[in-house]
Amino acid sequence: KIRVRYAPSPTGHLHIGNARTAIFNWLFARHYHGQFIIRIEDTDLARNVVGGEKSQLDNLSWLGVDWDEGPDKADPKYAPYRQTERAAQGIYKKYIDQLLASGQAYKSYKTEDTLKAEREAQTAAHQAPHYVYEYAGMDTQQIQAAQATDEAAGLKAVVRFRVPEDHDYDWQDIVKGKVKINSKEIGGDWVIQKADGMPTYNFAVVIDDHLMDITHVLRGDDHVSNTPKQLMVYEALGWQAPKFGHMALIIKAETGKKLSKRDEDTLQFIEQYRELGYLPEAMFNFIGLLGWSPVGENEIFTREQFKDMFDETRFTKANAKFDAKKLAWVNNQWMRSEKNKVMPQLISELVKAGLVTQTQADQQADYLAKIIEIAGVDGIKATSEISALATYPFFKLHEITDADQRSWLDTDDGKKVAAAFANKIEALTTDDFSADKIMEIIRSLQAELAIKGRALWNPIRLITTHEVQGPNLPEILAVMGKGWTLQNIQKTLV
Ligand code: GLU
Repeated sequence: KIRVRYAPSPTGHLHIGNARTAIFNWLFARHYHGQFIIRIEDTDLARNVVGGEKSQLDNLSWLGVDWDEGPDKADPKYAPYRQTERAAQGIYKKYIDQLLASGQAYKSYKTEDTLKAEREAQTAAHQAPHYVYEYAGMDTQQIQAAQATDEAAGLKAVVRFRVPEDHDYDWQDIVKGKVKINSKEIGGDWVIQKADGMPTYNFAVVIDDHLMDITHVLRGDDHVSNTPKQLMVYEALGWQAPKFGHMALIIKAETGKKLSKRDEDTLQFIEQYRELGYLPEAMFNFIGLLGWSPVGENEIFTREQFKDMFDETRFTKANAKFDAKKLAWVNNQWMRSEKNKVMPQLISELVKAGLVTQTQADQQADYLAKIIEIAGVDGIKATSEISALATYPFFKLHEITDADQRSWLDTDDGKKVAAAFANKIEALTTDDFSADKIMEIIRSLQAELAIKGRALWNPIRLITTHEVQGPNLPEILAVMGKGWTLQNIQKTLV
């Protein structure tokens, strides 16, 4: 039975890259009717932030990702699901002690200063920084004596894993195919337990994945270099490792550079898109195509479709391009197909922008929906942008300031068109004030005045909306109604 997990560190909001890891593990589990587990990797106490876990989980739920086990849904067989709680139960210590006893790990007392000096010397000698084993050539007794001295001097020990020399670690990666890394590239004996007694990520992850019966570990490409460390722990403890898959690096489409959390110009946290009014369906859809491709050309899919289509052989090896323009396009597609869902969201944006009051929004929902329908969601990428579109000309009429635009009204033809249109509009009954009738009027003017194209339309647009551009004019006017349209015309023509 497939058991996969998403193992967030509660260090901040849900990042696009982490969301992708969660989504693909979820798809993997759901496609094969396996189980999807959330485990909180919070052993790096200094990096944990208050509310980090909650924010991660909230945003996952918003994306439509649910889980079978997690901190809030414990299976007694595998609980607890937070690493700090697991540490408190001594789960990691048990295996640390086992490795210490077998000599596959040891206590190390080197101070930060010593480590720093060693690294500097190595760099100066054009060597890659690596850890130098301090007990080389010593027998057990000598080691114990050295450690006792350090202990007595008040030094705090970390526990290091004794990395086998010149040993190849290889695995058949679900995404990358065969990967081989030699132990020489690891950088020497690495810390499995910190001085504060907490296990490090690379150690705890192995213990937990094993104890939680995880069958597949699907994660970002940035973890490739961790995998050999994890493999050596599996080996040392005599456990079978799960299958690994490392999904393609996510790069920025414009620059080709790795998406960096520090790059403040790029929105890359789920929360940010949520605030802008992106739809969860669209976010899921977009992320579902980052480093994975379906058969065929279609790019718009529901979660259900992704679930059905999921195929672990279709991950792409090439870097995945994060293209905000594509995300906007995907969101727009979703906004159009989910109009009923989007409409209340769009209307609440109008309230937020101060264009209507909440009471007006409640009372005139149909009317506002019509306005939004005409303003069109075609040109916007997120619901928050609707306020800009819908401003005009339904809520306020701005001054015609642009000289070029105004000049359409200054010509003789412009004056003729404006006056004739005003008359004909006035003559329409309120009941007749439909888009069709308004269109008829404009056509009849064209015949009567022998004026067409922009010379005909621009003056009409200007006197009614104060813009020469905009959505379908007869429809706009029909929604505005006779009273409002006439009011606008009068304001302009006096
Ligand atoms: N806690 C790790 C992270 O946030 C999880 C990595 C893994 O999936 O093994 O990147």
